Amino acid sequence: MSSPWILVVEDEPLLGELLVDNLRHEGYGTELVQDGRTALERIREGGIDLVILDLMLPGIDGLKILETLRGEDNPVPVLILSARSRDLDRVKGLALGADDYLGKPFNLRELLLRVQALLRRALKKEALEPIRKIEFGGNRVDLDTFEAVTHDGTEVQLTNREAQLLRYLAGKPRKVVSRKELLDNIWGLDAATTPRTIDNFIARFRKLFEKDPRDPVHFHTLRGVGYRFEP
Ligand code: CA
Repeated sequence: MSSPWILVVEDEPLLGELLVDNLRHEGYGTELVQDGRTALERIREGGIDLVILDLMLPGIDGLKILETLRGEDNPVPVLILSARSRDLDRVKGLALGADDYLGKPFNLRELLLRVQALLRRALKKEALEPIRKIEFGGNRVDLDTFEAVTHDGTEVQLTNREAQLLRYLAGKPRKVVSRKELLDNIWGLDAATTPRTIDNFIARFRKLFEKDPRDPVHFHTLRGVGYRFEP
């Protein structure tokens, strides 16, 4: 498994760098953004396992970011890190769906331990709860009902296999998934399945979900290697 990816949202440069350095030292992939608008855009792109979120930010403030994400059903774990450690903000943050809250100034070691605990909890949850809804490039797919609305508003009913494949790819955004991995995990021992079968599914996904199927943005084929889903 690749290392967890943490987004630090912090507008005080020195504190931001301190956090990034220490998280990297612990082996996490880490990215720093310094304003609310960029943070929201980056989180929506996906591929982030945990957000460390300051509240007082230029652009959109931290509580608003959190409220917006949860309103969009984005479950990314959020640890609020803020000087506004008054009880009211703490309660507001948790009510809006923050997973944890730490007031500034904080003990660095405590922060790292909390990060570790949150990631562990999220991993367990992920293993238990399959992805239910995905959104990318204006397409919306409900993986419980197999109903999709594509970028141009067309309603599509997916087959069980299509939904399984989409769920699998969406669960590994930006990662290369080999044909063998897909055949093993989705088709199992169905002997009639060949790598060609997967190519046909990917071709159909492109036709449905890509604005230009000949120039795909979301469903990439890496010749001789596998596939990569870009949300
Ligand atoms: Ca701040």
